[in-house]
Amino acid sequence: MISKLPDVGTTIFTVMSSLAATHQAINLSQGFPDYDCSDELKALVNEAMQQGHNQYAPMPGLMPLRTAIAEKISHLYRQSVSPDTEITITPGGTYAIFTAIATCIRPGDEVIIFEPAYDSYIPNVLVNGGTPVLIPLSFPEYRINWNEVRAKITPRTKMIMLNTPHNPTGSILQENDIRELEKLVEEFNLLVLSDEVYEHLIFDGAQHHSILRYPAIYRNSFVTFSFGKVFHNTGWKMGYCVAPEHLMKEYRKVHQYLCFSVNTPMQYGLARFLETPSHYLELPAFYQQKRDYFLELMKDTRFTPLASEGSYFQLMKYDRISDEGDKDFAVRMTKDFGVAVIPVSAFYRDGKDNHVIRFCFAKKQATLEKAAAKLRQI
Ligand code: GLN
Repeated sequence: MISKLPDVGTTIFTVMSSLAATHQAINLSQGFPDYDCSDELKALVNEAMQQGHNQYAPMPGLMPLRTAIAEKISHLYRQSVSPDTEITITPGGTYAIFTAIATCIRPGDEVIIFEPAYDSYIPNVLVNGGTPVLIPLSFPEYRINWNEVRAKITPRTKMIMLNTPHNPTGSILQENDIRELEKLVEEFNLLVLSDEVYEHLIFDGAQHHSILRYPAIYRNSFVTFSFGKVFHNTGWKMGYCVAPEHLMKEYRKVHQYLCFSVNTPMQYGLARFLETPSHYLELPAFYQQKRDYFLELMKDTRFTPLASEGSYFQLMKYDRISDEGDKDFAVRMTKDFGVAVIPVSAFYRDGKDNHVIRFCFAKKQATLEKAAAKLRQI
């Protein structure tokens, strides 16, 4: 058999975005903003191009960008990481995650993944010969049951994957999660892969428990980030991975043969943009305002919101509207009501269906208003 992923089809994001386009529905499915990124940032990238910065960047990324990231980490998380040995610029967050898995997962290694899980995690592990060990988050709070995690650890457990703020649920790790994780990492010498692409999209004054804050966990961790998700330019496919030197050394061995290096002018532009801390410090309030506005608009509908503590996403139950499965309901919403969403069962390997759908609120106010007007008719 040629296929290493015989059970994998087209991603739900592609499916729902295409369906939205076909039916001219408002697309609240795939997670991307419908507003543009900063003019200042575009001008900085442009300037770099005009100045002739158009050849290969160094394999780990431009030093000014890695230095700016290290400064941001020191500012936000009070930790010192070396731009030289601990940061690598990647073409996006998804790539950063894949590369961490490809760096250390061998056939037979078990990787703990919490469900619902972002859709690339399981295929990333499978394609590298690993075995995903799936653990459900509680419903509807979407929290980790650490006793269950402990019970699932075997001599083959190599890595545990985390995602905070979490896609698709919007839940965030709490302090007690960190304490439990720290115990397990020390006891079983586990690797941690922490997907923190929504690090700045966190609400109600909550703290982002980045793994970078916790040296006892960080020394076994790969921590991945995205510029696209936070600076409203998902199409640029820019991100980075932070890991201690002994892990980053191995990560770069894989990265140098996957894509070698990432496009140069955008790295120059982002390096300059990060020099102004308000560019990231203003993001929690910017996104909280969007979440709050969306929730306010949705009050007049028959959808019931679950908690969203971070990310671009708001989950809603639709049990007051229909008892059909979430995939059928999401398709019907797109075709008949003109609003595309993501069925959360797509984030479970066995398709577990709690009758919950995911809305992306990273949209202009006018888009959210138009969507809400349609949703009030349901
Ligand atoms: N992360 C985005 C989401 O959750 C989608 C990215 C993609 O389409 N691969 O909607």
